Amino acid sequence: MQLGFSCLEAGSVRAKNSINVVIKNCLDFCVSILCFTFVGFALMFAPAESIGSQILANFSLTDTKLIIFILFHAMFCATTVTIISGAIAERMSLSGYVSIAVITAVIIYPLCGRWIWGGTLFDGVQNDWLTQLGFHDFAGGTLVHSVGGWIALASVIIVGPRIGRFGDDSQPIRPSSLPLASLGVFMLWIGWMGFNGGSQLMLTNQTASILYITVLGGVAGMSSAALASKIVHMQPQVILILNGGLAGLVAITAGADILMPWQALLLGAICGLLPQFSERMLEKYQIDDGVGVIPVHLFAGIVGTLAIGLFMPLNEGVSRLEQLGVQLFGVVVVGGAAFSIAYVSLKLISLRVILRVPKAGELVGLNVWEHGASTAKIDLLRQMSVQAELGLFNHRVVVEPHTEEHHIATYYNTVLDKFNEVQEEREKALEKAVWLAEHDALTGVKHRRAVTQVLTQEYERISRGGNKASVAIIDIDFFKKINDKYGHDVGDKTLIHFTQLVSSMLRKTDMFGRIGGEEFVLLFTDTEVSLALEKLEKIRAELKNCPLHLEHDSLSFTFSAGLTLLSETRNIEASLKAADTALFEAKKQGRDKILTVD
Ligand code: GH3
Ligand code: MG
Ligand code: MG
Repeated sequence: MQLGFSCLEAGSVRAKNSINVVIKNCLDFCVSILCFTFVGFALMFAPAESIGSQILANFSLTDTKLIIFILFHAMFCATTVTIISGAIAERMSLSGYVSIAVITAVIIYPLCGRWIWGGTLFDGVQNDWLTQLGFHDFAGGTLVHSVGGWIALASVIIVGPRIGRFGDDSQPIRPSSLPLASLGVFMLWIGWMGFNGGSQLMLTNQTASILYITVLGGVAGMSSAALASKIVHMQPQVILILNGGLAGLVAITAGADILMPWQALLLGAICGLLPQFSERMLEKYQIDDGVGVIPVHLFAGIVGTLAIGLFMPLNEGVSRLEQLGVQLFGVVVVGGAAFSIAYVSLKLISLRVILRVPKAGELVGLNVWEHGASTAKIDLLRQMSVQAELGLFNHRVVVEPHTEEHHIATYYNTVLDKFNEVQEEREKALEKAVWLAEHDALTGVKHRRAVTQVLTQEYERISRGGNKASVAIIDIDFFKKINDKYGHDVGDKTLIHFTQLVSSMLRKTDMFGRIGGEEFVLLFTDTEVSLALEKLEKIRAELKNCPLHLEHDSLSFTFSAGLTLLSETRNIEASLKAADTALFEAKKQGRDKILTVD
C-alpha cells in the first residue's frame, strides 16, 4: 500500500513536489509503525485496565502470533495516515504533516479502531461497541478509508487550497507522471489483496471469494469511470480512471466478505463515478484535494459501508432498515470523531507548528523548499525567473551538462545572446540619435541649435555675475572656390580638417560649433577679447602651418573672423550681430583677417 501511494502521489503532483510527497510517505510510515506498535496498538485492542502494561509488553514482544497481528494492523494504520498526504500535497509543511500523522496513529485510528475491531484480539474484551451493535466493516472501508478521508478533509480545510487552484486566474495543475501514478494504482491493488485477503486473519475457504470480490470491485470502478469520463469529456481521463478503480476497491472493502459478485460489480461501478461527479462540488466549496483522496477514500468508503446495510445477510431479529441504520450510525460516529479530533488537533498544532509552507516555498516547490533537493529543471527555472525579475539578461544560464534541460538552456542562451546583440544595436542607434540631436553629422562639432543653447546658458551665467566671455564668428575664405576646384568631397574634407584643427587648440570649457556651410562660432569662456584675439591669431597661424594634404597636392586656406565680448549689457543676438559686422569688415579688408568690435 505504501509503495502504491508513494508512486500514485509522486506521479499525480507536479515534478517540483514529487520528492516531498514521497518523503511524506516515508515519514508517515515510520511514524505509523512506531506510534501504532508501541502506543496505538494497546489503545485499540487491550482491555482498558491493561493498556499501560500492554504498551510496556510490546517493547519485549516474542509471541509470533501477536507480532504478526501487530504488523498487519500497523500496516492498516500506516495506510490510514498516508491517505492524508495525497490531499494536502504541494503546500502542507513536512512538520505539519508529521504532526497530524502522529495524532492519527496515536489517537484517531486506535480510538475508532477500538470501537470497530477492538474485540478481535483478546477474548471477552467488549471494546468494539459499534460491532456489538451490528456495525460491519470487514477490512476498513470506514476505519481505514473514511477515517483517512475525514482527516484529509479537515487538513485541506485548515491548510487551504494551493496557489492558483481556484479563482479567476486558476490554471489546471498537471500531474508530473501519469504512468507512475498508474503503476501506483496497481501496486495499491496488490496491497488491497493483502488487506482484504488477510482480514480474516487466516487462510480460509472464503479467501478466494474475498479476493474475487476485491478484484471485481476495482475493475467495475475503473470501467465505469473510463466509460463515464469518455462520455462527459469525450476522451477517457487518466486520473479519473485511476481514481475510479481505487474508489471501486474502497467501495467493496467494508463488505468484501459478504458481497455477492454482482453486488461488488454494482457497488464498484457506482463508486467508480464518485471522483468524476464530486469534482464540481469540491470546487464549489474550494476544497483542494491534491490527488482526489476525498471522493475515493471518504465518499466511496461511506457509500460502501452503507451499501452493506442493503446487501448483507441479516442476523435474526434485525430488519433491513435497522441494519442500514446501524451502518449509518457507525459512519456518522466514526466520521464525527475522526473529523473533529483532526480539526481541533490541527488548530492546536498550528499554534506551535507552521502548517503551510510560505508562498515562496510553494512556488519554488517543496522539493527545494523542504529538502533543498534541486533538479536541473528547477535550477534552470530559478535562474530564468531571477533574470525575468531583475532583467539580468547579460548572464547566461548554467545547467548540469548531459541533461534534457541543458539543451533548453543552450537554446535559451542563444536567444539571450541574440537579444543582447539586438539590444546593443538599439542602444548604439539611440546614442547616435541623441548625439545627432546636438552635433553636426559632417564635422562632429555642435550644430546651430546646440550653439544657441550653449550661448544662452553662457549669457545667463554672465548675467548672474559670472566672468565675461568672448565670442567669434568665423568664415572660411573663398570656400566656394575650393568646392569648385577640387570638388565637394574635398570641400567636406576641408571643413573636417578645419574643425579638427580648431578643436585641438581649445580648452574643454570653450565651445566650437558650425552654424552654416563654412561658418562657425567660437566661444572662449572666462576670456577677455584681447586674450581671445591672441588665441584666434594662434589658430590662424597654425592653419597656415597645417594645410590639408590631398593625394597629389596640399591645400592651404584661410579664414576671416569677427570677435566681440559676450556681456550682460546686450543679448546674444546683438553680440552675434556685432561679431558678424566685424567679420564682414574683415572680408571687406581682403580676408585672412580677425577684427574685433566692442
Ligand atoms: P567668402 O570668402 O565671401 O566667404 O566666400 P565663400 O565662397 O567662402 O562663401 P559663400 O557663402 O559664397 O559660399 C559657401 C559655399 O559653401 C556655398 C556652398 O555650396 C558651400 N557649402 C555649404 N555647405 C557645404 C558642405 O557641407 N560641404 C561642402 N563641400 N560645401 C558646402
Ligand atoms: Mg560664407
Ligand atoms: Mg566663406
